[in-house]
Amino acid sequence: MQKKIKEIIKLINKNDNFLIVGHVGSDGDSIGSVTAFTRLLRIKNKKVRAYLNRDTLAPFSFLETEGEEFYTDSKKLKKDLAAENYILITLDSGNLERVDLEAEITAGAEFIINIDHHADNSHFGKINLVGSDRAAVGEIIYNFAVEMIGIDIPMQVAEPLATAIITDTGALRYENTTSRVLRILADLMDAGVDIYKINKKIFGSISYKALILKGLALATLERSANGKIAWLYVSRQMMHEAETDYTEGLVSMARDIEDVEIGILFTEEEEAEIKVSLRSNFYAEVNELAAEFNGGGHPRAAGATVEKTLEETINLVVEAAKKYV
Ligand code: 5GP
Ligand code: MN
Repeated sequence: MQKKIKEIIKLINKNDNFLIVGHVGSDGDSIGSVTAFTRLLRIKNKKVRAYLNRDTLAPFSFLETEGEEFYTDSKKLKKDLAAENYILITLDSGNLERVDLEAEITAGAEFIINIDHHADNSHFGKINLVGSDRAAVGEIIYNFAVEMIGIDIPMQVAEPLATAIITDTGALRYENTTSRVLRILADLMDAGVDIYKINKKIFGSISYKALILKGLALATLERSANGKIAWLYVSRQMMHEAETDYTEGLVSMARDIEDVEIGILFTEEEEAEIKVSLRSNFYAEVNELAAEFNGGGHPRAAGATVEKTLEETINLVVEAAKKYV
């Protein structure tokens, strides 16, 4: 890991035009890592741009990603990059399809540096740093920060890094919470990060509308005969009724039921486009279950999109899940 980090830093030092991006349906690890790495490169006086999808950015507004290097308009980004040679750095994306960019912008890059922590990463970059034992990409970017600017990490970098780590460890509750993660967070706290504030923003608060949607989703809860699989769904109609499509945290309600091993959330993005979110507790490798439907992820958190109706998808996925419990 450290050797690869040094190799990438050498490349960064030798070049001067970068575009940094996370994954579609971006989460705190993706947004936090992109924000921190972009600011790190700025500190190093590099020409750097980042793309952050406006649709997923709202819960992370406290990161204040307002600088001119942070693009939320894909058209403007494409225009500004048109005549340039840039190196694309992808963060937290297990494969090329997950990269949150227009295909044209991805294809226009000189080459790709792929930094990720998904074990099923397809190594689509020219350079690939895949730390599958790392809880979050933010943990990897922390190592970059220490290597590039030393252990006195400024708040503008420390806060997004803590956000990334807190998100992907479920506020230090998931299996991926290692002593290394705790040490890094302790360092980030010493750098001035308010962990309570970040925890509260990400896991300790919910909009009124999202809570209404949660109530509607809970009413759909079902369990397999042996009690090991629990699932719920969110339909277009329910999102319309609640006036929100915010579904974060819903799948964990199914997963957290006593004796349940696999929790599943089905979200009806379109009539025949169902996002499947999978979570497990102790042994079911849900990334393998997701792979059966062309998705992927981690052993305890994975996902896929199925192009069938809500009902068909629920039947198919629940049936397939039975093999894992
Ligand atoms: P979520 O359920 O929160 O959207 O995703 C959980 C995990 O599964 C994340 O680590 C995410 O990267 C991965 N994941 C979700 N959807 C997909 C997908 O369609 N393809 C792949 N390869 N991974 C996914
Ligand atoms: Mn991640």
